[in-house]
Amino acid sequence: MIMEKKVHKFDAVILGAGAAGLMCAIEAGKRGRRVAVLERANRAGKKILTSGGGRCNFTNLYCGPENFHSANPHFAKSALARYQPSDFTALVEKHGIPYHEKTLGQLFCDRSAQDILQMLETECAAAGVQIFLNTDIQEIRRVDEFIFGTDGNEFRAPTLVVATGGLSIPKIGATSFGYDVARQFGLKIRETRPALVPLVLGTVDRKQYCDLAGVSADVEVSTDEHSFREKMLITHRGLSGPAILQISTYWREHSSIKIDLAPGRDVTQAIREAKERNMTAARDALQTILPKRLATRWLDVHAPQSWTNQALEKLQRQAHEWVIEPAGTEGYEKAEVTAGGVDTEELSSKTMESRRVPGLFFIGEVVDVTGHLGGFNFQWAWASGAAAGRAL
Ligand SMILES: Cc1cc2nc3c(=O)[nH]c(=O)nc-3n(C[C@H](O)[C@H](O)[C@H](O)COP(=O)(O)OP(=O)(O)OC[C@H]3O[C@@H](n4cnc5c(N)ncnc54)[C@H](O)[C@@H]3O)c2cc1C
Repeated sequence: MIMEKKVHKFDAVILGAGAAGLMCAIEAGKRGRRVAVLERANRAGKKILTSGGGRCNFTNLYCGPENFHSANPHFAKSALARYQPSDFTALVEKHGIPYHEKTLGQLFCDRSAQDILQMLETECAAAGVQIFLNTDIQEIRRVDEFIFGTDGNEFRAPTLVVATGGLSIPKIGATSFGYDVARQFGLKIRETRPALVPLVLGTVDRKQYCDLAGVSADVEVSTDEHSFREKMLITHRGLSGPAILQISTYWREHSSIKIDLAPGRDVTQAIREAKERNMTAARDALQTILPKRLATRWLDVHAPQSWTNQALEKLQRQAHEWVIEPAGTEGYEKAEVTAGGVDTEELSSKTMESRRVPGLFFIGEVVDVTGHLGGFNFQWAWASGAAAGRAL
């Protein structure tokens, strides 16, 4: 017996009930559009719930285009200007959600990320948005409108918004579906790679430093063009912590990064001024700047040949310019986001609509726009979602 599929018709269907998809649905629903959000998981917003250590760093007060990486650094400007951090905090305040600034403009929930998800779901309900869970779309057809189905349902809409996210953390449901849809409709993809991800050290460095796993230091990490001053953490396989996660977005295989272990500090002055220039004086000096175990290890590895001014200059330079070539990253399993994605040249920066395929939109992480650590990726999800939602 052939079962008839139930046909659902909407003005717009959004694939993916993550941050971007939900925001897009709210904006479109508020404007009277009949909107459905299809989500393959058994609940909406799973990534929101795990974000920010469970407290969701939902935006950043100091958000500007310079906080985003993309092949086209201008692309994000329009959407970011039209949906700002203050727009999102106004929504958060309307729902009475307590929040605080942790550091560097990063806004977190006082209680839990659940507050943000609840707020988005409440807004969706108020805007008449229908969310279909456990709805894993595998195939899309376009005749005069977009048609896609699951076992028992068929969805039809003239407008389709792809908000299926990136490849990071497959465990919580990441799929390549958004990129597959882009390819199906002939859109270019910028090569994807894990970003905001811990780096793995090569064998020699790993042997020298990784038994110090857990030790952290305030550092400045840089590539040729970018630098970040934040905390670095030594791990069992390499380096992590905010400074390393930030630089990982810009690091490419077989290239090196430079770490200043003592930004703005004179490492050797105390040695030069000591009664006697020796290892004890050096250790004392370095331990005022670095955690004790790292200072000791650093001197074991970089023991000066002598105590001349020249040798001390070398020690100074080494501490400010630790150059390492990471062996790789911890991959999508540990990456907070995916860099690369749907080429922004394919999309309108105002609406996120495909230039080639009218009616097809891409928003959020699936697009080649990657935020720095600190609430910027959610701000991009809200801003790109709102830009599309207002155009549906
Ligand atoms: C552990 C972790 C912590 C993070 N913390 C922060 C933070 O504190 N602040 C910050 O700014 N950013 C943070 N991020 C990044 C942020 O979560 C993402 O950038 C953001 O969620 C991207 O939103 P999105 O809507 O594009 O994608 P997602 O939130 O990933 O949503 C995509 C949705 O699409 C669904 N989907 C996928 N394929 C299909 C399909 N075929 N059919 C139907 N549905 C599908 C997925 O199940 C998912 O629900 C964090 C990321 C991780 C992994």
